[in-house]
Amino acid sequence: MQNITILGATGSIGQSTLDVVRRNSDRYSVFALTANRQVDLIVEQCREFSPLYAVMADSESAKALSAILRREGLPTEALSGVDGLRLVSAHDDVDMVMAAIVGAAGLLPTLAAVEAGKRILLANKESLVMAGALFMDAVQRHGAELLPIDSEHNAIYQCLPVNYGAEQESSGVRRILLTASGGPFRTTELDALQAVTPEQACAHPNWPMGRKISVDSATMMNKGLEAIEACWLFGLQPDDVEVVIHPQSIIHSMVDYVDGSVLAQMGNPDMRTPIAYGMAWPGRIDSGVDPLDLVKMGRLDFEAPDYKRFPCLQLAFDAVSSGGTAMAILNAANEVAVDAFLNHRIGFCHIAELNREVLEVLEACPADDLQTVLDADRSARQQAQALITQGKYGWEAR
Ligand code: NAD
Ligand code: MG
Repeated sequence: MQNITILGATGSIGQSTLDVVRRNSDRYSVFALTANRQVDLIVEQCREFSPLYAVMADSESAKALSAILRREGLPTEALSGVDGLRLVSAHDDVDMVMAAIVGAAGLLPTLAAVEAGKRILLANKESLVMAGALFMDAVQRHGAELLPIDSEHNAIYQCLPVNYGAEQESSGVRRILLTASGGPFRTTELDALQAVTPEQACAHPNWPMGRKISVDSATMMNKGLEAIEACWLFGLQPDDVEVVIHPQSIIHSMVDYVDGSVLAQMGNPDMRTPIAYGMAWPGRIDSGVDPLDLVKMGRLDFEAPDYKRFPCLQLAFDAVSSGGTAMAILNAANEVAVDAFLNHRIGFCHIAELNREVLEVLEACPADDLQTVLDADRSARQQAQALITQGKYGWEAR
């Protein structure tokens, strides 16, 4: 039996992970579940999976959860805050940790799991974007097993040689083809983009996901963050990563080799495939995903990305080329911008404008230690908030 901690259990990835556990309950047992504030949903999950611990972000939610758990006589203990998250990530009895908290909040608990040498199922791309060098170094030093869950990176992982070890040249890898659906606004009139609503931005054509990553997919910042993620995971330079729009989301990404071979991983767009892959690696288990029907699909299309339509994509490539804290700055500015957009405080196109301005105002420096990264994250958030408060990017200024 393998014990799993699920960070961000109430989210889209968290719930898909629990579904894979449910289908393979003879192999996996839930050690701990965590959530931000969704007490009702985590109670439901505790009833079904009887974890040892459930961790809420704040003590008030943990108190509310604890009262319900006791009233119902459930065996789960409620904890709170980063200390609680660290405990359930690094506990001796834990075999693998699903890192599926959204945003920078995922960094410290994920690092705790890395430092405890666990198998990390990495969905939380933001932690790698913020602190890639430190993160990958910690993986090496602590002998953690890092399995990418982001569907593109999972696909690339599956298409790389078994003992790849980030040695691009000797393994004959020419480049990575990172596929992107293009999101809900791939063909929207450019003039109409600024007026799109959060609801339209969150209506992804192929993947049901949390609201933050849905907006990132609509701006294609998600693909930018993924390009950065790919550079860290697979030891690549930005020029080695080519983004290809593939609206059907059937090919999840490809590896192009020097002999002209291109290996692709395909499947229906359902995150339970990469999740099950990460959990069972190097084996395979049932994920509940329908078999791919290529004849029914009929066709697969490809096109080049339009950087004018999706300026966030260029910002991400620029940030990875700048290096150091530039990526943490971009990530933090983007989290604030997306939140402001979701709360009707700024318009859709302001997300890229705000990100660009924060990157211009703040100077990047080498990201040599965690404190430097956390400081860059904080400064970028403050700067982005200040620019929003000044009203320059107001929703009404559309
Ligand atoms: P989501 O918004 O559906 O869920 C986020 C989870 O994190 C929830 O359980 C929430 O309670 C928790 N959380 C949020 N803020 C928190 C905080 N401050 N402290 C502690 N917990 C907090 O998001 P999601 O779509 O499941 O995405 C999760 C991560 O996985 C993101 O980093 C995303 O980029 C990545 N990812 C998601 C998908 C997908 O299909 N949903 C695909 C690839 C990668
Ligand atoms: Mg992805």
